Amino acid sequence: MTPIRTRFSPSPTGSLHLGGAHTALFNWLIARRHQGVFILRIEDTDRERSQERFVEEILDALTWLGLQWDEGPHRQSERLHIYHEYLDQLLKRGAAYYCDCPPGDLEARRQEALARGGKPKYDGRCRERGLPRGPDTAVRFKTPPAGVTFWHDLIKGHIAFDNRELDDLVLARADGIPTYNFAVVVDDITMAVTHVIRGDDHVPNTPRQLLIYQALEAPPPLFAHMPLMLGKDRAKLSKRHGALSILTYREMGFLPHALNNYLARLGWSHGDQEIFTREELIQYFSLEQVTKSAGLFDEEKLLWLNSHYIKETPLPELARLLPPFLVPLGIEKPAPPYLERVAGTLNIRSKTLVDMAEKARFYFQDPEVYEEKAAKKFLTPETVPLLEEIARRLEALPETTEAALNLMFKELEAQTGFKMGKLAQPVRVALTGASESPGLFEITSILGKQAALRRIRRAVKFIREIPS
Ligand code: GLU
Repeated sequence: MTPIRTRFSPSPTGSLHLGGAHTALFNWLIARRHQGVFILRIEDTDRERSQERFVEEILDALTWLGLQWDEGPHRQSERLHIYHEYLDQLLKRGAAYYCDCPPGDLEARRQEALARGGKPKYDGRCRERGLPRGPDTAVRFKTPPAGVTFWHDLIKGHIAFDNRELDDLVLARADGIPTYNFAVVVDDITMAVTHVIRGDDHVPNTPRQLLIYQALEAPPPLFAHMPLMLGKDRAKLSKRHGALSILTYREMGFLPHALNNYLARLGWSHGDQEIFTREELIQYFSLEQVTKSAGLFDEEKLLWLNSHYIKETPLPELARLLPPFLVPLGIEKPAPPYLERVAGTLNIRSKTLVDMAEKARFYFQDPEVYEEKAAKKFLTPETVPLLEEIARRLEALPETTEAALNLMFKELEAQTGFKMGKLAQPVRVALTGASESPGLFEITSILGKQAALRRIRRAVKFIREIPS
C-alpha cells in the first residue's frame, strides 16, 4: 500500500485562524494515524496579498499547536518552473490554449451575458483561435463541453458537477503566474498527495481540478471536504467568536492541546468522549466519523477544556508557562519553586493562564485596594480585635505550615467562640484584597509569616482610618 500523504496548504494572506487550524489538524491526524506524511505547503502565488510575516506566524502557530510537518514548507513561489512544465504538457496535448482577451472586454462580456439572463462564464472566444504565445496571453484550460465530473467525497459522499457549468478557467496569467486550481493540481501530483482534506468552500474547485488531472493523465487523490465552522448563531465566524488567530489564543492563555482537543471534536466524534489525549486522537480519528454539517463554535466548551488541561498540567510545567502572563501585572522573574506552589492552589480554579496570572497576583503584591463589597462586609471595626489577636498568634508560630495554621485557628475558634467562617473572611480580605481565594491556610503558608503579618496590620490600619 502506498503511504498516506496529506498536506496543509495555507495562503499567507492572513494569520492562521481556527478554521485553518481545524483543517491542518485533520490532515495531521490522518497522516499520523496511518504513519503517513504530513506536508506543509505555502500557497504564496498571490504576490500582492501574501506576506512573509504571515508565513512566519503560520509556522509559529502550527509549531505551537504541535502539528509538526514532515515535509516542507514548500513554497509555490519557488516552484514556478514546475508549473510551466505542466503547462507545456497541457498545451501540447491540446488541453489548453492561449487567450488574449483583454480583462476589460471579459468583464463587459460577462455583464452582457448576465443581462441576457445567461451565465457569466468565459464565452470561449479564443478556444479555437490557435493563438501563439504572446506578451499578453493567458493560458486557459479547455474544459470538456459536455459530460459530468464526479467523485466520491470521503466526507460528503457522491458529488457531481455538469461540465457545462464550468468555464475555461485560466491556468496561468499573462505574467506566467499559475492560478490556484492549476498550481494545486501540479503540487498535489508532484508531492504524491493521496488525500486532499480541506474546507468545503473548495467543493466547487474540485471538478475543475479533477478535469486537469484527467487532461494530465494523472490519477487524482481522494478528496474529503470538511464542514465549515460557524458561529453559535450559524453565521460566519466573526471577531467576537472564533475568528481570532491561533496566536491570539496563545496570548489569551489557552493551552495548545485544549485547542487541538476542541478542534478535533468539532465535526468529529468518537462515541460520547469529549476529552482525548493526543495519542487517543491519533488512534481514533477517522474521516468516516466526520459530520457533513457545520460545526458551531462554542467558546464555553473551549474554556471548559482549557480549565481541564490546566488542571492536568504538571506544576513545574505551569510554573514554566505562567511568567509571561505575569509580566503585564508587573511581576517579573518569579522564583520557580514559589510559582509551583502558587500554581498548585490555582490550577483547579483557572480557565486560562491569563486568568491564573490575575488570580496569582496577590501572592506577589500586597493588596493596594480591597474589593469594595468585601471590605464593607468583612473589614469592619468589630473585626479589629480579632485581626490583632490573629496577628499576635501568627507572630508566635514557629512555622507557618498549613497544619500549624489549622491548629492555631482551631484553638482560636474554641477560645473565642467565633466560627471559622467568621474568623477566616477578614483575614482572607486582608491577605488577598478579595473575598474569594484558595484555602486560607494554603495561601497564608505560601505567603509566609512576614507578608501575612504586614497585610493583616495594614488591614487594621485601613479599618481604623475609615471615617465613622
Ligand atoms: N490555499 C488554499 C486555502 O488557503 C487551500 C487550498 C487547498 O487546500 O486545496 O484555502
